Amino acid sequence: MTATTGVTAAPSASACADAFRDAYGREPEGVWIAPGRINLIGEHTDYNDGFVLPIALPHALAAAGARRADGVVRLRSRQSGEEFSARVADLVPESVPGWAAYPTGALWALAGAGVRIDGLDLMVDSTIPSGTGLSSSAALTCATVLAAAHTHGADPAPARVAALAQRAENGFVGMPCGIMDQSASMLATAGHALFMDTRSLETEQVPFDLAARGLALLVVDTRAPHRHVDGAYAERRRSCEEAARVLGVPALRDVTAEGLAAALDALPDDVSRHRVRHVVTENARVLETVGLLRAGDVRRAGALFTASHASMRDDYEITVPEVDTAVDALLAAGAHGARMTGGGFGGCVIALVADGAQESCLAAVRAAYRERGFAEPAGFTAVPAEGARRVR
Ligand code: ADP
Ligand code: MG
Repeated sequence: MTATTGVTAAPSASACADAFRDAYGREPEGVWIAPGRINLIGEHTDYNDGFVLPIALPHALAAAGARRADGVVRLRSRQSGEEFSARVADLVPESVPGWAAYPTGALWALAGAGVRIDGLDLMVDSTIPSGTGLSSSAALTCATVLAAAHTHGADPAPARVAALAQRAENGFVGMPCGIMDQSASMLATAGHALFMDTRSLETEQVPFDLAARGLALLVVDTRAPHRHVDGAYAERRRSCEEAARVLGVPALRDVTAEGLAAALDALPDDVSRHRVRHVVTENARVLETVGLLRAGDVRRAGALFTASHASMRDDYEITVPEVDTAVDALLAAGAHGARMTGGGFGGCVIALVADGAQESCLAAVRAAYRERGFAEPAGFTAVPAEGARRVR
């Protein structure tokens, strides 16, 4: 059997520059790269002011760009046939359909922050499979913010770029996501997981060297069709905000593990009790995982991954049969822990496995999928890569 679980690379900056030249008949001023991410643990905690622990992936999105002086933005993607063109002055929230909403949202966010955008030609190329929970959208908005800012004489700090990219998704695309994906893409470093307190925005680079421990992180793309993602995400977020209001706290982050039982008693219905229990226990699991990583005891984090999955499945109710089947098959095949990663309702599953066991673990998922008639899953080994940067 051919190895299917190898490491994917970032797109080539020169190929992206070539595509730009072919499309626009001139030189790009630069090429910027922003990676996708895997969240190790801490799901749906970021919009509750909680804790997250993502790594950046080698999979990344490249954007070649050059300023225009005529107030026009032209956008192309090597992954999308649709070319987009508009006047920057006409960009208003939720007016741009399809993929172009993300990069135009990035321009809109920059303009809202006082960066005058004269116009832009942009060519995008990506190795991040989109819509699978690896955060291609944040890579697209982050890379666009960087390209537009740098070609217009601005140089926002990485955390500022993340905030602008989040603003693009929240305020322009209409997706009420938290700050994790953009922060991972901008702030993560090779060989580390990014521990982030999404309230204070404080971050810590936690060493994450699996190979040194004889371990590997297998990512399984379940290929489950996304079902009602955006509506369900917004609905989860609303129910958390409502629960925080009932409990009289600024955010669910303020409910501690010790205070959980009292909080559950104070809530009016089972659904909100389940949602709150997920968020509170998930925050505690992130802190515990960080403690294990700091102590070099990564293997034991596997049990926390598995507990996180059960919480997403039973309390947050954001998993689907393909995802649960993958987790069960991975654990049965000997994984130290497995969980869905990302917003849910499909997407990817991660498993902490013995280095070298990736192929057999993926084969176990394949077999379980065949039995249930699910589409063939894909897999790769994730290594913590560097965050966004200018490459040309
Ligand atoms: P995720 O961020 O997990 O990949 P999202 O649904 O948030 O999933 O974002 C996916 C969307 O981002 C795509 O539907 C598309 O609009 C846009 N996108 C991502 N990558 C590209 C790309 N290379 N070219 C064009 N659009 C892209
Ligand atoms: Mg996204």
